[in-house]
Amino acid sequence: MTTENVPVPKPVPVPDELSGPFFVGAKDHRLMVQRCSDCDTFQGPGRFVCDNCLSDHLTWVQASGKGTVFSFVIMHQRYHPGFAAEIPYNIATVELEEGPRLLTILINIANDDIRVGLPVKVKFEDINQDISLPKFEPSPA
Ligand code: ZN
Repeated sequence: MTTENVPVPKPVPVPDELSGPFFVGAKDHRLMVQRCSDCDTFQGPGRFVCDNCLSDHLTWVQASGKGTVFSFVIMHQRYHPGFAAEIPYNIATVELEEGPRLLTILINIANDDIRVGLPVKVKFEDINQDISLPKFEPSPA
């Protein structure tokens, strides 16, 4: 008997103290980012201090879920067996309209149609009962 054809699950994020609020929001399909109370800068989730002014007065707020493709790659190499069936697949950086950039996957779009600057909106994928992941799909302007 061989195990070659047994599907391997994808790795699932494990929330910690810093990323916990991000994943609590994601479970409810709310995209959470941090906002600095001192300089009003928004930043990607899970930092102890503000990227702009180093203040630790950060609060979690819900982002609009809208953004644009900032950058992307098409993966042709299998780095994890859990993704083998999806090669070639995309990995993208989406710049939210609030400013932060998230590493994510674009869905409901062919790889050949992905462009920098493409308007996208968040769509959550429920991985299990505790974890939902924000992915992004094209959004008509
Ligand atoms: Zn700040």
